[in-house]
Amino acid sequence: MASEIIKIHEKLVNKEISCTQLVQEKLDALAKNQYNSVNFLLSDLALEKAKQVDAKIAEGEKIGLLEGIPFGVKDVFLLQGQHASASSNFLKNYISPYTATAIQKLIDAGAIPLVKENADSFGHGSTSENTIFGAVKNAHNEELVGGGSSGGSAVNVAKGYTVFSIGGDTGGSIRQPAGFNKVYGLKPTYGRVSRYGLMAYTSSTDCVGPIASSIEDIELVMNVISGKDYHDQTTYASEALDSSKALDAKNITVGYYSDFIENKGLDANIKKDFLSVIEKLKAKGVNVKPLPFKNADTLVSTYYALAMAETASNLARLDGSMYGERANADSLKESYALTRSEGFTEESKRRIVGGNQVLSQGHADEIYLKARALRAQIMDHFNKDFKEVSVILSPVSPANPPKIGNSLKDPLAMYLSDIYTIGFSLGELPTLTAPVGTSTGIQITTAKKQDELTLKFAKFLIAAL
Ligand code: GLN
Repeated sequence: MASEIIKIHEKLVNKEISCTQLVQEKLDALAKNQYNSVNFLLSDLALEKAKQVDAKIAEGEKIGLLEGIPFGVKDVFLLQGQHASASSNFLKNYISPYTATAIQKLIDAGAIPLVKENADSFGHGSTSENTIFGAVKNAHNEELVGGGSSGGSAVNVAKGYTVFSIGGDTGGSIRQPAGFNKVYGLKPTYGRVSRYGLMAYTSSTDCVGPIASSIEDIELVMNVISGKDYHDQTTYASEALDSSKALDAKNITVGYYSDFIENKGLDANIKKDFLSVIEKLKAKGVNVKPLPFKNADTLVSTYYALAMAETASNLARLDGSMYGERANADSLKESYALTRSEGFTEESKRRIVGGNQVLSQGHADEIYLKARALRAQIMDHFNKDFKEVSVILSPVSPANPPKIGNSLKDPLAMYLSDIYTIGFSLGELPTLTAPVGTSTGIQITTAKKQDELTLKFAKFLIAAL
């Protein structure tokens, strides 16, 4: 699919459509939508910005590629003066005091934020059912989940309600909903995009990235939001991505983890389709290498031990004294307890309790430090593998989207469904979901800071299938 951003840009410049009309149409579609993808519409802000773009065009001024392009924002990012609820009771009335760096960069480029999008509360989930705004419905079948945690963002792109959306991906939250709704989603290398103004979940794996309907649009957005940020010391300066030069099959070695594919939990059709992708690549002359990944299940336990520990620590600041709702009680301690009991969802409480356990005296060495050590081994594993191959392919999810209501009954099954995405998060690697190959897409991963190669390979793969 060609760039939607460029298509709209040309229409705006050629005056085939006004920016106000474009924004109004999208706002109307979002307001009417049946998918629970919207937490808050940003109508006044968006229409005011659209008017400015129209005035510029009317004056004959040049506009940038992203100028006037409507986009969505997962409701875990701050946007000054607007709601930022994290889909929680806690922050349902909270107004952002400042704007996240990635969002600010888009606004500075003239893009227009339309909507704060529904998601799993604080990023906790894989289905976008863990939200006070109602479960997000899949763009292609309303009985199924939209995926998560950036479910609303993926659905809005899939339905064309937003041209692109900005999601957060800690352990798969951009890639998995992108796969479930058949759009593109990139989790960049950790640190390529600033996390400033994204509510912290697992700070050591949290990434900001785009969901869009084409690789070109993923690239255009990445080139605006990337870069070193004084507010986030894990960021680094990066060159603009340019995936326009085609790859030569002879120069690529593709790896895939045979243990991922032999995993009992993998759906038979996804497995068959994945292996047929591998065969097609071989037929094109690509060198393909099956690689081992013993004990792939430790990925899930390592990730969840760290994710719970970090989120328990990050969310300790929510006690009713500084942010969001406060439940009054007889004592300060009781007020904290009541506020936190009422403010967080069941799933978030499960993670906070689990995380405090992981970090508690007597358990920290046994669980938290062990998980840290395992993470270091996992990173080494990837580093070694990327000495042998340039790209690693994997399924995005072991199964198709479940029916709404089913996952909430079995949190452990939901954690296990993250098996293919969370490893690459622990590895800080750039990884893209392309909606091709299997019913929930294909995940394309490269070595650290090779985000450009990820995009180039995605183009190569699409042409090869
Ligand atoms: N499903 C994973 C989790 O619940 C990943 C979520 C995310 O990336 N925010 O932790």
